[in-house]
Amino acid sequence: MSDSLSEFELIKRYFDKIGPAGSAEILQGIGDDCALVGISAGESLCLSIDTMVEGVHFPVGCAPDMIAYRAMAAALSDLAAMGARPSHFTLSLTLPEATAPWLAAFSRGLSEMADQYQISLVGGDTTKGALNIALQVHGLLPTGTAMTRSGAKSGDWLAVSGTLGDAGAALSLIELSAPNFNQTVLLDRYYRPNARIDQGLELRGLASSCIDISDGLLADARHLATKSSVSLSINSEDLPLSAALKAECGDKAVSLALSAGDDYELLFTISDQNWQRLIQQYPDNMYTIIGRVESGEGVSVFSGDKQFQITQQGFQHFE
Ligand code: ADP
Ligand code: MG
Repeated sequence: MSDSLSEFELIKRYFDKIGPAGSAEILQGIGDDCALVGISAGESLCLSIDTMVEGVHFPVGCAPDMIAYRAMAAALSDLAAMGARPSHFTLSLTLPEATAPWLAAFSRGLSEMADQYQISLVGGDTTKGALNIALQVHGLLPTGTAMTRSGAKSGDWLAVSGTLGDAGAALSLIELSAPNFNQTVLLDRYYRPNARIDQGLELRGLASSCIDISDGLLADARHLATKSSVSLSINSEDLPLSAALKAECGDKAVSLALSAGDDYELLFTISDQNWQRLIQQYPDNMYTIIGRVESGEGVSVFSGDKQFQITQQGFQHFE
């Protein structure tokens, strides 16, 4: 038996209670997609850091602009989950060697994403070592309006943005030298995920809870269920699957949508009344209802009346 701790156990055991408790300006500490700090009477700072390690979060030899896209999208996705507007970020870059072509391409990718999402680089740190990129993103929102993982209510709908499983399907295609059209679509979803910032802003004030799907639908749904003290019931027939995923993966599409990570879509709960408002306000929306919030605990998956056996819970580090 391994005495190695899971990612979430180790955070809880060693990092959960560091520093003075009860500081008035800290509105949300460890445990959600971002921390929230009150910075003025009406405004809160929303912050989150994400690290990408070569060989773990992107393949060895990955094009530097693609690394920048993925790192930025992953970091921004946590701001999206809270409904924050991106403001500024810092970059900690560890490089085995400083080569101009690598740095130029990385900087170009970072710059494209920063322009697209209107977020400025304001500082960072540069060191020599194994390739590793950490981005700390900061966003702003009116105090008290952030979406958290803990507001889901029994009776709410469970819904997602976009389509699920695409980035997971791309993992087995990375080595391909001449991908076809569908494979290219899936690879693009892996290398250049969208951070759902606009959707986070649309959902803020309407959704009762929200989390971004970074580790897979089931794994992140479980976090949301635990934090909200509810049970989530997912109908696998309602999962939004892209045409590319269905064409490329056939029968495996549903299991990828349930368990694969890296799509960076938003998973949220919403009352029926607010759902009607949402779809009226945004008729061309990208949201799909995939289930329901119920009293109880945990996550269950149904296909019609049949309940699925869940074997793969999603991706966790240190397990
Ligand atoms: P996400 O996938 O949304 O980025 P994580 O699953 O990485 O969130 O982390 C869950 C929570 O634990 C977050 O609130 C995060 O800030 C916190 N966390 C993760 N690692 C550490 C750490 N080493 N020290 C303190 N807090 C941490
Ligand atoms: Mg997150």
